[in-house]
Amino acid sequence: MKCLILLLSGALLSAQTLSLTFDDGPDLKALGPVQASAQNEAILGALREARLHATFFVAGGRVDSPEGWALVRAWGEAGHGVANHTYSHPYLPSTPLDRYQADILRNDALLRPLPGFVALFRFPYLKEGKTSAQRDGMRAFLAAQGYRNGAVSIDASDWYFDQRYRAWRAQHPTADPAPFRRAYLGHLLDRAKYYESLAQRLGYWGMKHTLLLHHNAINAAFLPDLIRHFREHGWTFVDAQEAFRDPVFQLQPEVLPAGESLLWSLAKVRGVQGLRYPAEDAVYEKATLEALGY
Ligand SMILES: [Zn+2]
Repeated sequence: MKCLILLLSGALLSAQTLSLTFDDGPDLKALGPVQASAQNEAILGALREARLHATFFVAGGRVDSPEGWALVRAWGEAGHGVANHTYSHPYLPSTPLDRYQADILRNDALLRPLPGFVALFRFPYLKEGKTSAQRDGMRAFLAAQGYRNGAVSIDASDWYFDQRYRAWRAQHPTADPAPFRRAYLGHLLDRAKYYESLAQRLGYWGMKHTLLLHHNAINAAFLPDLIRHFREHGWTFVDAQEAFRDPVFQLQPEVLPAGESLLWSLAKVRGVQGLRYPAEDAVYEKATLEALGY
């Protein structure tokens, strides 16, 4: 009996599977080449150490210099996927479709020759269209270009934690970051559990998740801890390209506005009540961080 329970709990634990995806790219103009390179190396080093392959959704405008493209190239050479996130990171709901699509093609021309290129596209801000014309126009365009949607299943506000972390670090350069790290990892795990519970509620048992992270300072600082924290809580990592082969990522929910986490959209189509909108935003995390004194 005890054996059976152990087996069952092992099966349940191993059913929690995720992969890592990173968006945007180091902002060369803001960081400068030395700091951008250090951030790149910290993230790549943590992935190498953990023997994981991620997918990097590059917004070309952030890295459009010889130094910047060398940083992106390092991802492909290390076996990671290099994918499209538009050139200038436009907001689809207020951008004409032809301009938005031209921006994707501009980025495509820069990315396609690089090692590791994969024809996956991630919508900036996870906004996939406000109207059916935008949503369906984009789906037809991506299919015609041979692209698939590089959707997110676990959406968490790492970008907001990053803003607060950098502001705190600037004020407290020598302070112990452990309490901040705990808050950040707790937040990510909480969001992962939420989206895993949504997946189970929708019947996608054992699906392979894609976690949305950004190429930023907080992940450069805490990625080894992040990976360890998820493993300690029973999560198994797979390569991002393997996760994108999960059949869930073939689904294209008929929802408006379209986008956010794929699971959030699927839940909305099914009429699941109590979903927060926008799915993730600073407003939800502001109070938590302020209560901790950050
Ligand atoms: Zn982005």
